[in-house]
Amino acid sequence: MADLTRLTRLPEFIVDCINVGVMAVDRNMNVVLWNRFMEVHSGKSAEEIQGKNLFDCFPDLPRKWLERKIRSVFLLKNFAFTSWQQRPYLFRFSHHEPVTSGVDAMRQDCTFLPVKNEQGEVEYACLTIVDTTDTCIYQTRLHEALISVEKLSREDSLTGLLNRGSLESELASEIKRARRYGSPLSLILFDLDHFKRVNDKFGHQAGDAVLRHMARQTRRIMRDTDIIGRYGGEEFLVILPDGMDGAMGAAERLRLGIAGSAASHQNISIPVTVSAGISTLQAETRDHEQLIREVDLALYEAKRKGRNRVVRFIPDLLGAEDGGSHRDKSLI
Ligand code: GH3
Ligand code: MG
Ligand code: MG
Repeated sequence: MADLTRLTRLPEFIVDCINVGVMAVDRNMNVVLWNRFMEVHSGKSAEEIQGKNLFDCFPDLPRKWLERKIRSVFLLKNFAFTSWQQRPYLFRFSHHEPVTSGVDAMRQDCTFLPVKNEQGEVEYACLTIVDTTDTCIYQTRLHEALISVEKLSREDSLTGLLNRGSLESELASEIKRARRYGSPLSLILFDLDHFKRVNDKFGHQAGDAVLRHMARQTRRIMRDTDIIGRYGGEEFLVILPDGMDGAMGAAERLRLGIAGSAASHQNISIPVTVSAGISTLQAETRDHEQLIREVDLALYEAKRKGRNRVVRFIPDLLGAEDGGSHRDKSLI
């Protein structure tokens, strides 16, 4: 092994070869050290820069912030650090990652170090700049992946509407909100009539196309403030900030809209109708489960009365509970 102590210029050699930006300035912000990394990425050589004012050479630097940071190193004789998450970069350098990475310039972690003389006075402020572009890209990708996983776990994959779990948590928080502000809240639960026949006659793919059509129609007919989801196989739930009359009007619009727009699959037109139940939040409603039980009973009543109609929940329907809910018959 070579005797490294004989290499008197070893520190300079390391500073120049290291894949980290190293530079230093004096109290007047004149550059006294500019290593190879800085030369390569800035396109300016040490000869060009050393002895010159840092801000004259790089007018794009965040001057106010950087001066304050450097002055505090001189004053407090302390280290300081800033990560790419706080400030993406100090020097606008390009990076070697593909443009598709979505990162516009090299991300940088910067450390500020006081360089003291024998009297313990800070003579220079040294800055190290570490390229963190890779970390930034991976973190951004991870973040995007987590968002899409979150979205997938909330959505029904066939229709893109909220799934049952998210509908229930939305409903629980909407009930809290309605109670806090004394505002109305209603549910519409609607179910395709004789959907099994659609599957039997046209096939399961056609059935799926009908469900997607339903989702589109519902989005089109309902307002932006309404929360729409697929509650079960061919059952959809709408949470709306309305009282019973408003919800009744919306459900009728929905029923007529769906009856008047046949779904189509492979050029075959498939007319469908829906039955709907409605329930409204009352002072005595215990929780979201009760509201759902009530809307389910109303839907069951709409089916029982002949389908393609809207029925509002009334307490008399509770007596019919033994007859079972609509969903009890569902295969889902
Ligand atoms: P009702 O008027 O009483 O609601 O009759 P229905 O035939 O619609 O009700 P039933 O509960 O007997 O059948 C529901 C059907 O919905 C059966 C099931 O195969 C179908 N279904 C549920 N989920 C899906 C799905 O994701 N895709 C397709 N194609 N069919 C589904
Ligand atoms: Mg049905
Ligand atoms: Mg059903």
